[in-house]
Amino acid sequence: MKRPKRAFLCLALATSALTACATNPITGRSQAMLVSDAQAAQSSQQAYSQLVSEAHRERALDTNPATLERVRGITDRIVAQAQILRPETRNWRWEVHVLKVNEVNAWCMAGGKMAVYTGLLEKIAPSDDELAQVMAHEISHALLSHQAEKMSRVQLQRTGLQLGMIAGAIAGYNLSTVAGLADSAATLALQLPNSREAESEADAVGIQLAARAGYDPRAAVSLWEKMMHAAGARSPEWLSTHPSPETRIAAMRTLADKYMPVYQAASRRQ
Ligand SMILES: [Zn+2]
Repeated sequence: MKRPKRAFLCLALATSALTACATNPITGRSQAMLVSDAQAAQSSQQAYSQLVSEAHRERALDTNPATLERVRGITDRIVAQAQILRPETRNWRWEVHVLKVNEVNAWCMAGGKMAVYTGLLEKIAPSDDELAQVMAHEISHALLSHQAEKMSRVQLQRTGLQLGMIAGAIAGYNLSTVAGLADSAATLALQLPNSREAESEADAVGIQLAARAGYDPRAAVSLWEKMMHAAGARSPEWLSTHPSPETRIAAMRTLADKYMPVYQAASRRQ
């Protein structure tokens, strides 16, 4: 399905008399927001706790304490920078878990609820700098309100939306096995791919956040090279709406050059 033109979407939202378009504080881009960040965070919180409980019951939650500690150490540093870039996110209840799912994926819901899959850690074997790039990219989607934006689209298109079109694994979980999650707008939005525009925004903000946190921006390039070569790395988040990997790696090189001075300054402070 073609993405509706923004003007049309805004008009449709305006005529629904429910909301209008909001300007994102980081990018300055106008976003059609039928669902606010706060609403997105609230439903994400619900979906996240169900998912975490389900993973716990299946013994798929944080099975390796050392891995969890490593992931937390990296996300803590990036979250600290995220809170500087968008101060109201200090109120978010940031949380990260490692889920035992054999898929190359990671995500951050609205409100700062994050997960990284063992499939990513095992198949990509990221260095700390590379894992920081993954998490900073995901955190950027949340900072940039991409989930609320997608939830707005879900709400708008809901009547015409065929669940089958977007079914499949949320995050590697079979929806039929995770009772009650299927009709959550937060969950639906998480399964929808981000637009290319949203992906480019998350790439640019992510590499900047990671650099400010003292992680090498050149790792975004090596991460993508690994993603490209990894078998089974075709997860919805990472490949579906992105430009070709070659184009993306070229864009990453430019961003890496741009943020090297930021990284070098951050490294000196540490
Ligand atoms: Zn993304």
